[in-house]
Amino acid sequence: MIKYLPEADFIRNADSLLQLQKLLVVNTPKESPSSGIFEFCEGSLLTFPYKDEQTRTVCLKRVIFRSNDVFGRGTTVVRVECACRHCPPNQCNWQGKELVLKLTFPSKTPISEWTFIDRCKELAQGEHAWVLNHLPDIYWSFDIPLHDDSPLDNFKKEFEDAHEMRVVRGSIQEELKPLSSLKTAKERTQVFCDIIQCHHWVRKCAQIFHRDVSEGNFMVRERDGKKYGVLNDWDLAIWLNNEGDGPTSLIRTGTRPYMAREQHSFDWGGQHRYRHDLESIFYVMLLLVCLYSSPNEKVPHFENQEFRFEEWHWRDDEYLRLLKNSVVYAAPFRPPVSPFFIGFLLWLTELQDHLYMGFTGLGTHIKQAAKQEARQPNKLPTFDVETLGGHLSCEQIAMILHMFNNEQLTTHGLEWQKILEGLSRNQQQK
Ligand SMILES: [Zn+2]
Repeated sequence: MIKYLPEADFIRNADSLLQLQKLLVVNTPKESPSSGIFEFCEGSLLTFPYKDEQTRTVCLKRVIFRSNDVFGRGTTVVRVECACRHCPPNQCNWQGKELVLKLTFPSKTPISEWTFIDRCKELAQGEHAWVLNHLPDIYWSFDIPLHDDSPLDNFKKEFEDAHEMRVVRGSIQEELKPLSSLKTAKERTQVFCDIIQCHHWVRKCAQIFHRDVSEGNFMVRERDGKKYGVLNDWDLAIWLNNEGDGPTSLIRTGTRPYMAREQHSFDWGGQHRYRHDLESIFYVMLLLVCLYSSPNEKVPHFENQEFRFEEWHWRDDEYLRLLKNSVVYAAPFRPPVSPFFIGFLLWLTELQDHLYMGFTGLGTHIKQAAKQEARQPNKLPTFDVETLGGHLSCEQIAMILHMFNNEQLTTHGLEWQKILEGLSRNQQQK
């Protein structure tokens, strides 16, 4: 059984959130424009607990992100500036940094993303230091407990254990740029390649599973004239060795348009696998290169002037499952890639090919296993469900994504380089 977490209603329920606003905002100037879920106003001051029983205050600027399609979370990201009165002039440790405040309602993932990032940073030594360029910088994180008599309590009762809202979590982070800030297709391919390597490192070396691959979590850091892909938003991450423990595995995670196909099924109750995130990478890429004609411009569908793939953002699960079926089982697969992104066509068709072979293999296996069960139930055939028979593994993805238009992209870390060396050795032997 899959438990559905409330999403849009919760996020839109402004009344229940007013209480939170009172908890959080200490000084709101009159007649400022509303800026979203929290009704935060530009110029408001927010004071929160800091180290050693101190507090810090930030001044809220523009709301730059508000989620509306993530299960159980109403993430808001607001640009902020330090407004601490006790910071001596020119000595603020947040000075010169582009800061954002991120507010979330952690429901089923009590571990803060700060904890995960900290663990990664501890391990990012020596040959692993490259990963630091691809992790978000979180400067401070704080939780504000909700009181039992808050209006959100009704919400808790309605959804019982499926929605345990205990805190509002805030964090002060470095502001990152969206993918649309990249001006060329080549820059995007390197950013994709960076993030996929980071996602893999985090799982392999830090034993953390990100579980929320979506376009909004693929960010860009510009530092010293260079651009780096950053894997952002770790609110749905889990420790790998806890996977399958407790209720977390019963709850689907991810951002709807990019979720793996089988996760849209009503009867899907399996665990979130690494290959689900790989499948999500494919959808991020597909939507990006078919929906946009240039970094910021959407391409209208020639028939009805609707934006192609736009509906993926608002359709329900059953519809998305059928849409994704038609993509995964398309033969031949001819995605309407816009000319600006035409270089992505090879990546997309190769990834789709692996999904097609993997799922077809799984289907054949299920049929054969059913037949075999009737004949010799003690000799059932085996199939690697984790990688769909080897078609959707890190090695396969590395093979596809390390080259773009016959150019080698930058690979980081020994782990990834070993995979590529192994692949080229295999190819030479063939
Ligand atoms: Zn300061």
